[in-house]
Amino acid sequence: MRISHWIDGKNWAGVAERTGEVFDPATGEVRAHVDFAGDGQVEEAVSAAARAFPGWRDTSLAARSRVLFAFRELLSARKDDLAKIITSEHGKVESDAAGEIARAIENVEYACGAPQLLKGGFSENASRGVDVFSLAQPLGVVGVISPFNFPAMVPLWFVPNAIACGNTVVLKPSEKDPSAAVFIAELFAEAGLPPGVLNVLHGDKVAVDGLLTHPKVKAISFVGSTPIARYVYETGTANGKRVQALGGAKNHMVVLPDADLDLAADAAVSAGFGSAGERCMAVSVVVAVDPVGDELVAKIAERMARLRVGNGHDPDSEMGPLVTSAHRAKVQSYVDAGVAEGAELVVDGRDIAVEGGGFWLGPTLFDKVTPGMSIYTDEIFGPVLSVARAASYDAALELVNASRYGNGTAIFTNDGRAARRFQNEVEVGMVGLNVPIPVPVGYYSFGGWKDSLFGDSHAYGPQGFHFFTRTKVVTSRWPDPSQGGVNLGFPRNS
Ligand code: NAD
Repeated sequence: MRISHWIDGKNWAGVAERTGEVFDPATGEVRAHVDFAGDGQVEEAVSAAARAFPGWRDTSLAARSRVLFAFRELLSARKDDLAKIITSEHGKVESDAAGEIARAIENVEYACGAPQLLKGGFSENASRGVDVFSLAQPLGVVGVISPFNFPAMVPLWFVPNAIACGNTVVLKPSEKDPSAAVFIAELFAEAGLPPGVLNVLHGDKVAVDGLLTHPKVKAISFVGSTPIARYVYETGTANGKRVQALGGAKNHMVVLPDADLDLAADAAVSAGFGSAGERCMAVSVVVAVDPVGDELVAKIAERMARLRVGNGHDPDSEMGPLVTSAHRAKVQSYVDAGVAEGAELVVDGRDIAVEGGGFWLGPTLFDKVTPGMSIYTDEIFGPVLSVARAASYDAALELVNASRYGNGTAIFTNDGRAARRFQNEVEVGMVGLNVPIPVPVGYYSFGGWKDSLFGDSHAYGPQGFHFFTRTKVVTSRWPDPSQGGVNLGFPRNS
């Protein structure tokens, strides 16, 4: 199978100079080859988007939102097909893929409200006979660069809002699981989106650099690892673009002594091992505040033993494989390092046996992890959960706030005052109170602090609309010549 670019409303018909392999992570087999863009295809995609911009910008709000409503219906009707595609290239279980699509639909529904959301302000008689009003206008061509771990949801954090605001888009999805993006572009075409408004460009650094330096690309929305997010932010802004670049994470979940430990253990397992830990909001470190550590670790280990690891297409599976062999090897090297650095290995997932030859690594649990260890400091992005012990609330907070990342965090407690202190004191962008994965709903915005976000706009929701528009303020006076105002020489009725 060949996966190619989607440019100007159709599949690209050229011959790629470079391609990449796309695997089925559950079997390890190559399921497709994806074309990698060179400079020529970047130019084609950006030119198609630039040509489409004037017409799309001037398309009425009603017509734009009708396309989004139609897309929402198609996406909802075809969600099972899309979930299967995601599972085949990412590996996550189908129910998890369906969850990702449900979150994506929230963002489409938000974008359907564009006519309401794009209203400006109006001040009558700011001065005598002078009115002042604001417009929110689109930027032009915007680039969206997305990671492998949410091949449908992350593109749909940005694309619906960008086009609702009147922009045209070049989407560069992850080369590891590129089919979902093409499926989405085809559905948009079916929903009535004109050719060129959404283009999908596949590839690697060459495609990304092409977008970051192209003078016709006005803004970049990026999601991926912290080193690449920083690079994208620095390169994009140096080239005069508006950039929001969301990076990696190391999310802590604090468990206070008064917490419901069964609830906390359930949450730690689902948030630690869902999608094999390949989520930027996955819980990576559980901070157990004395004296609950031993009991909590036992409850987590007990639940892990019941986790069913297997092919994501099998409805009985709860956790699938890792995305590639290279990523599996990297995650395993962290498990090896954790053992070497002296953490207590409570559950060892390295020897898991699953039929089918895929990129398997079982759920792994470390206890007594300390801040000097690489399993504590680095984003592992796999099914490896660490438990760190803290003597008090203050010590736990200090641990969370010392992290270079600030994406998500959670606290488990029945004490409202402690929870309120935490929400105030923690230096993290998204906080859960007895909620392990506090991904904001579509009408808020998603974003971390510190090394988890470069730029000042969070993704989607109100901040998404802010990012994809620039404001213009008009000050107007309509002098009446009969009142002795300025006569500009126009006929009275013009
Ligand atoms: P990645 O940084 O490797 O890739 C992200 C995108 O950047 C891909 O489209 C890729 O093709 C491109 N890219 C990779 N290397 C590049 C380079 N050298 N130059 C230019 N472009 C390059 O990330 P990934 O492995 O696909 O995704 C996992 C990462 O994404 C994790 O770190 C995870 O935390 C992060 N993530 C963050 C969020 C968030 O909202 N903060 C959400 C999802 C994923």
